[in-house]
Formats: sequence, C-alpha cells, structure tokens
Amino acid sequence: MSTEKKFASQADLVDKKISFDKLSERAYAYTAEGDPNTGIVVGDNAVMVIDTQATPIMAQDVIRRIREVTDKPIKYVVLSHYHAVRVLGAAAYMPEHIVASQDTYDLIVERGEADMKSEIERFPRLFRAVESVPGLTWPTLTFKGEMTLWLGKLEVKMMQLGRGHTKGDTVVWLPQERIMFSGDLVEYEATPYAGDAYFNDWPRTLEAIAALNPAKLVPGRGASLQTPEKVQAGLAATRTFVSELFASIKQGAQAGKDMRAIYRDAYQQLKPKYGHWVIFDHCMPFDVSRGYDEATRYPDPRIWTAQRDIEMWQELEG
Ligand SMILES: [Zn+2]
Repeated sequence: MSTEKKFASQADLVDKKISFDKLSERAYAYTAEGDPNTGIVVGDNAVMVIDTQATPIMAQDVIRRIREVTDKPIKYVVLSHYHAVRVLGAAAYMPEHIVASQDTYDLIVERGEADMKSEIERFPRLFRAVESVPGLTWPTLTFKGEMTLWLGKLEVKMMQLGRGHTKGDTVVWLPQERIMFSGDLVEYEATPYAGDAYFNDWPRTLEAIAALNPAKLVPGRGASLQTPEKVQAGLAATRTFVSELFASIKQGAQAGKDMRAIYRDAYQQLKPKYGHWVIFDHCMPFDVSRGYDEATRYPDPRIWTAQRDIEMWQELEG
C-alpha cells in the first residue's frame, strides 16, 4: 500500500488484447484479458448481446466481430446488471429490446446517474470516446425472477439466481447447450468488485449456478471457461475470494477495529493469494467499504458518488 497509489484505475492506460471465442454454433464470447466481457447468442433469426461495453464506439468492435460470423439482426441486448461499464454502449446495437431484471431497472432509476459519473472517473481507459454515450441505458423489457425467450428453436433463459455482485444480477442460460453468461457474479483471474454487493448472499448464488452444471461459462471478466472443470474452478475461486474477504472484514468489525485497520488487515491477508488478479488494487478499497457496511449497519449498498469515491479512497489509501 503505497501512498502514491493512484485513485481506482486512473493509472491503467494500456489496452488489452481482445479474443472472440466460439463456444458453439450459437454462442460466442468477446473477452479482453480481464476487461468487461460481452456475450453473443446467435438464434435462428436474431442475435442477442449480453452486456454492451462501456461506450457505443467501443461496442462497434463487438458488432464488427459479430458480422464476421452472422448477418442476422441484433434484436436483443440483455443487461446482466446496471453498472455503467457494461451498459452504456447499448445504443450502438440499435436493438428492438433491452432486457433486464426489474431489480436492475430499479437500481438504474435510483443510482444510474451517480454510478455513471463515478465509474467514468474510476476507469477512464474503459470509457473510450465517452462523448458517444447518449445518456443512461433504459431497459424496455423487465422481468422478475425468470424469463424465457425463444430465438426460433433456441431457448434462452434469463434468470435471477440470487443476489451477489448487485441486487439485480441476471444470468443468461442456454439449457440446450449448457452454456452460461454470468455477468460479474463470476470472475476468472480478475478480482470481484463488491462495492454494490451482498456478501451474505453471493456464495449461495454461486452454488445455484454450480447446480445447473454449465459445460461452458463466460464470466464478467477474464477468459471464457470452456470445460466443466474450468467452470467449477472459476466458481470456486470467486466463492473463496468473497468468503475469505467477508470473514476478514467481519472479524475486524467484531473486534471493534476502524475501517482503515480492517482494510489493512484484509489487504495483507488476501494479497498473497489474489494480488495477481486483474484490478485487485482497484477493487479492494470499495470491497472492504461495502463489506464493512454490510457487517455493521447497512443491509443494502449505499450509493457511490464521484465525491464519496474520493473521500473513501483518501480515508483508506491516503
Ligand atoms: Zn459490475
């Protein structure tokens, strides 16, 4: 923990290498070495995009890749959750529908604006051509619990298996192919961001994903997991990180330590095992803040504003 540590990811300026993986005739993954992923489902007569990239200009590269494999119209965009870095590119696809859980819709109403400002400050590289963002992305179709869309003969399920990364977390599941797009509920060699999380619920939600026994899974960040063994490894590592972090925070809170001391303990405890994961230093202060809130007096995550971001960073890193 050096005092020169730059706020969040403001010092992260190097572009990542993009991969476009074919998971089946129906499913592709657009991944970028730990930057936010986009999933693609090719139905009989329409294409679905899961999470959009951060800006319409960045989404153009996803569209270019899609056009290398199909000329079917992109009709659906699904938001796995509300975070700006995944949803603000939606306009580029000109979809007929933008689908999200009602809980995600409610979060956009409540905190979408504040989240957009805060995320742009945190991670400038991930908002390339931010001036191309026309404003917040509003879902046009919402559901509670579960919804099925038939893209011709291809069954696509959107499911809320529980809270974890946010209140509105949605996974997209192709039962016939046993392929899942998990959003940030699962990460692979990338640090889970837990600033808006429900630590108590998250492990149970991961168990619900594991119970579906996916053959392949596209995490929110990191490489696509293309065997059942890799899927289970990704789920287990995410679960272990979340559980170990929350246990450390709760222990400190019960001992009456202040947040700065709890942060220092948690950082030192987790760094040897997880420090090589992408955005570890970025996430830890936000994750510990939320964990401390949940362990003490805030069952629901408080809204992050650009101002609160900076105050928290100074308190823990200054
Ligand atoms: Zn997220």
